[in-house]
Amino acid sequence: MFDDHNRVHHRKKILIVATVCIGIFALLLGRLVYLMVWRAEHYSGLATDLHERERSIKAARGRILDRNNVVLADNKTVCTVSVIHNQIKDPQAVVEMLVRELELSESYVTKRVQKYSSMERIKSNVEKEVGDRIREYEMPGVKVDEDYKRYYPYGELASKVLGFTGGDNQGIIGLEVKYESYLQGTAGTILTTTDARGIEVDKVGERRIEPIAGADLLISLDRNIQTYATQLAKQACASKDADSVSVLVMNPQNGEIYACVNVPEFDLNHPYDLPEEMKELSEERRQEALNHIWRNACINDTYEPGSTFKIITAAAGLEEGVVTPESTFSCPGFIIVDDRKIRCHKISGHGAENFVQGTMNSCKQEIYIPIYF
Ligand SMILES: [Zn+2]
Repeated sequence: MFDDHNRVHHRKKILIVATVCIGIFALLLGRLVYLMVWRAEHYSGLATDLHERERSIKAARGRILDRNNVVLADNKTVCTVSVIHNQIKDPQAVVEMLVRELELSESYVTKRVQKYSSMERIKSNVEKEVGDRIREYEMPGVKVDEDYKRYYPYGELASKVLGFTGGDNQGIIGLEVKYESYLQGTAGTILTTTDARGIEVDKVGERRIEPIAGADLLISLDRNIQTYATQLAKQACASKDADSVSVLVMNPQNGEIYACVNVPEFDLNHPYDLPEEMKELSEERRQEALNHIWRNACINDTYEPGSTFKIITAAAGLEEGVVTPESTFSCPGFIIVDDRKIRCHKISGHGAENFVQGTMNSCKQEIYIPIYF
């Protein structure tokens, strides 16, 4: 009786253990099937990400050309030098070479070479010949990628019209930002397959997705007219001791702008340089000063039409017979229009004069022209 009871007890125990085992096994099997069948795509994607090192290839930005196809904004090939930590065979030689070629401090380069990261950038905007030289060392773990940098062949010319680009080649002001979506292009990628230690697998090779260059922008500006207008504006600025002078040359037939000058212009290849006396400004005041320097007054500021419109009023007056060239006027040196006093350039006034003299002196006088509807 005692034995019987024990046997039943044992059998019960075995049954429980077996059931638990089968249950756990079934659960694991289910999980395995789930991972291998349903989630296969997800995990192979993750593995590919891990084993594919991705480097982007910058797209060439579209150029900006004047009406005669003169290139006003161009691209210069520069290089970005990087290191891949676990591919470096002789760290000391790599550090020495990079310090020498890139003129960087040894501590800066050493820190980056020793850093355990998938890819560490050492320096960008490196001149192409320096990049080519570094490539010729053929040191494992040193990567030289070609890159584009915006370059403005005429420096200051039409600076506030063209605008410039930032560190990622994106437009900051002017046409560069206005037409960003056309100019920017689409970046490409280089995919390199690596093993678990991050070392490139040679047989698999590189997969490249080629970049698509941005579209060129052809504008109505004429480089020669722009150059002459800039010279004249500089002369006027100096002789009148003015803060700034703007010149706009337009084709009245179709509104095309041939020149848009705002002196002082700034150097598009060094847009963040401030004049010597402004170097000590705080960050906030610095940005304000730069915004002021970059401002295109022809577009952003308003000015009463004044003398440019007097031709129309004078012609209307003559055509309607309200005035003749001999009509006489008296110039007190100003006229009150609405709530403001507009001065004649001779503050004491020109006194008595006829219509021709008044037009010549650009006097501020009232002419009443009846308008018939
Ligand atoms: Zn006058």
